[in-house]
Amino acid sequence: MDPSTKSQYSSRYDLPTPEPDSPSLSRSRRPYSFSTLCATVENPNSSHKDQHGSSSVPIYQTATFKGVGGEYDYTRSGNPTRTHLEHHIAKISSAQHAFAVSSGMAALDVITRILKPGSEVIAGDDIYGGTNRLLTYLRTHMGVTVHHIDTTDANSIIPYLRPGKTAMVLLESPTNPLLKIIDIANISALVKERCEDAVVVVDNTMMSPYLQRPLEHGADIVYDSATKYLSGHHDLMAGVITCNRDDLAQQMAFTINSVGNALSPFDSFLLLRGIKTLAIRMDRQQSSALLVAQMLSKLGFKTHYPGLPNHPGKEIHERIADGYGAVLSFETGDKELSEQIVGATRLWGISVSFGCVNSLISMPCVMSHASIDPATRAERGLPEDLIRLCVGIEDPSDLLDDLQHALLEAGAITLAANDFVRIPNAVNKAVEKLANMQPRDDAFPSDRAWFVSAPGKVILFGEHAVVHGVTALAASVDLRCYGLSSPREDGRVSVRLTNVGDHYHEWDVDELPWDAATPVVPGDSHGEVLDQRLLDAITQRALPPADQLPPKTHGALLAFLYLYMSISHKGFRQRPCFHFQVRSTLPVGAGLGSSAAYSTCVSTVLLLVNKRISLPPLPQPSRSPTHPEDPGHIHISHQGRRAIPPAIADEINQWAFVAEKVLHGNPSGVDNSVSVFGGALAYTRPGFGKKSGMDPIQGFKSLKFLLVDSKVPRDTKKLVAGVAAKKMEEPEVVQKILDAIQSITDEARRALADPEVSREDLLAALSTLIDVNHAHLISLGVSHESLEVIRRRTAASPYGLSTKLTGAGGGGCAVTLVPDNFPTEHLQELVSTLMGDDFQPYLTAVGGSGVGILSPYEVHRSLERDRSELMTPPDTPLPHEAEDHVTLANAGDVLKAEFVDVPHEEFAHWAESQGRWLYV
Ligand code: PLP
Repeated sequence: MDPSTKSQYSSRYDLPTPEPDSPSLSRSRRPYSFSTLCATVENPNSSHKDQHGSSSVPIYQTATFKGVGGEYDYTRSGNPTRTHLEHHIAKISSAQHAFAVSSGMAALDVITRILKPGSEVIAGDDIYGGTNRLLTYLRTHMGVTVHHIDTTDANSIIPYLRPGKTAMVLLESPTNPLLKIIDIANISALVKERCEDAVVVVDNTMMSPYLQRPLEHGADIVYDSATKYLSGHHDLMAGVITCNRDDLAQQMAFTINSVGNALSPFDSFLLLRGIKTLAIRMDRQQSSALLVAQMLSKLGFKTHYPGLPNHPGKEIHERIADGYGAVLSFETGDKELSEQIVGATRLWGISVSFGCVNSLISMPCVMSHASIDPATRAERGLPEDLIRLCVGIEDPSDLLDDLQHALLEAGAITLAANDFVRIPNAVNKAVEKLANMQPRDDAFPSDRAWFVSAPGKVILFGEHAVVHGVTALAASVDLRCYGLSSPREDGRVSVRLTNVGDHYHEWDVDELPWDAATPVVPGDSHGEVLDQRLLDAITQRALPPADQLPPKTHGALLAFLYLYMSISHKGFRQRPCFHFQVRSTLPVGAGLGSSAAYSTCVSTVLLLVNKRISLPPLPQPSRSPTHPEDPGHIHISHQGRRAIPPAIADEINQWAFVAEKVLHGNPSGVDNSVSVFGGALAYTRPGFGKKSGMDPIQGFKSLKFLLVDSKVPRDTKKLVAGVAAKKMEEPEVVQKILDAIQSITDEARRALADPEVSREDLLAALSTLIDVNHAHLISLGVSHESLEVIRRRTAASPYGLSTKLTGAGGGGCAVTLVPDNFPTEHLQELVSTLMGDDFQPYLTAVGGSGVGILSPYEVHRSLERDRSELMTPPDTPLPHEAEDHVTLANAGDVLKAEFVDVPHEEFAHWAESQGRWLYV
């Protein structure tokens, strides 16, 4: 570098360090404001000046320093990058001393080492879960007594202040996640007055030194999880401690050097960089937080944010702090609803922690505060439905929009008169839903027949991997289970299952074990856990011994009766007497979701028979624009096939899930959701640190598939356990496979939902993904020779089709994608080859309708019922029918007889020809 330039630059180094009260200034100058202090990282100590004039503090990535007697020798004890950081933190925190350590918890650990056995600590009752955990450890292992009290009332600590005993008062304000405000100044004064040896410690993480500097209000030690606002980008873990007392600083420096938890040089550099933008980030974050809080509060949610006028601690907060921060929380009144809201957001990331530039959403009780046991959470008034929002720097209108959409999608708010309004709470919601569902109690006579159907499902991508947190794609298949209820008048209820060994069973309704049943009143939901008492009572008192029935039949009857007795309790409804018969074009037990399809049919029929759901009335006859002279013309063309309202589908799905639980113990809920809603959905299990839940794939295009049942029975549990064992043995290998499967699912999801992708490209992409996914399943050891034979047959020339196993593998079914233009002769030939191998192929469409109800409206029945289309006349003679339409009662009889007799291959067509089917 040119020496003249160098001298120019070196004069810059002589600029005084911009500290407010720098004594080196000859004339008094205005102290720098906080944001200027944040952005200006200089250390006046000449020994810290960089020899090259680097404008950012260099990273001294070294463990040791050469020489003897220098300022630094070993990085555990001191490092220039960390010294810069600590100087900077002290400067912005009004502190004499600052320490940077490896995390917020490490900071608290260093601080609590001041305590001795017998010491007493007073702490708040709404504190960070990790703080609670560490205090519990000290209590149970170190002989420290901890009093958790509500510190929002400063005087409440007085009875616990014991001179000579109380060693520490630990405060957090605002508290996380309830945003309670603690009067730090008042409490510090009380402590000094009554227990002068006790130290007041404040966790300042929620505010950062920008908004609150508790040392200025009497605290002795302040710490921050610098993982949050100080660093601001969620790219490091750090904790900082500040204090003004030399004795405390000495003790803490000793601990840090002894235990070795000081912050590393690289993280010190990152944190220093983050702090430069602290003020500007915070400004944006808290102004957006206020908008979000105002929106939620206006909608009527109980919202916790000190910036709201009704916040009980607003005044105290404004006295101590310079802003309201960017964390807020709100209550929905229903934990499940909260989960749905959290799951429905897109921009708000589901994550613990806060303080990052990105907005986050979480449910403290299941995430950050899960380490506090539920009873203690309840005792401390932490609502299970609480949602915490940590606002980032995104455009506030995007944040508000995303949150409104999530609230809408979850059913927490609705649009009325062009404005969002809150649906009061979960119970009201259910009641309201029910009210909507029952427009007219007398709409249909209670003794009518109901014909319903529900599809099975295939897993297109991601089976097995889904168990380990990978997203799976499932879609409905147009092989269905059908259920028909027909009234009985003899006080009995009966079931006929035709696909699991034509089994018939009937019960005297009054003799069922009602004493063990707890009614789930209309509008309420069944709890998460099955009622074991009812299950036992049905098994022991209503069903033949399990060994006298095939297991599938036993399960199906148990699920039916469990739902029947939960839904039809005499307490609020008559117990309906009817016959329920079931047929399926889905192979049972082949991994195609036959049990979910059955569960959906049972749920739908029971809800209909009990009038817990009802179909919306037909549009009133109106004048037709094309036939103005005809006052009675009914527009049925707009009464489309998608006529089951989503609220009814939700209700059906809820009970179908209960039946699935009876059948499988711990199902994921995917099969019943696909069966009810149809189409395709992406499912990710909770508990893997990513967004979990079910996402419908919008715009899914129906695809043709050949489903081939290998007829080889599988043991799903064993196959799943096999993959888990492999993962234990070779974690890296299996993880790679899981990652690859996740990419396949992501890719398929993108392609399926992208309106720009041509049909040809979509099919080509899916074919490749099918092959690759199957190869990974082979590596996981879950294929089977029979499936490989199917693959070879379908891939062989001239077919060249892609096939993969679906479901658990080890037998069961394979799915083969059939392109739209695949020649019919090839298909027929392939089908006969596969049948020749003793496999059972089914040509089916994937992604079609969900649950269906044969329209009860006579106009649909008489217009659409074209009996001449029946391929085979039923064996049972039909009762006499009126000339142009059948009566509802008659229709029930006719259906009942035909339902059993129509040959299997004609069943789907027969069902379709009975009238108009209404779908979700
Ligand atoms: N204090 C509060 C208020 C926190 O929210 C957290 C972390 O979430 C901590 C302390 C602990 O900080 P760290 O995770 O950096 O150890």
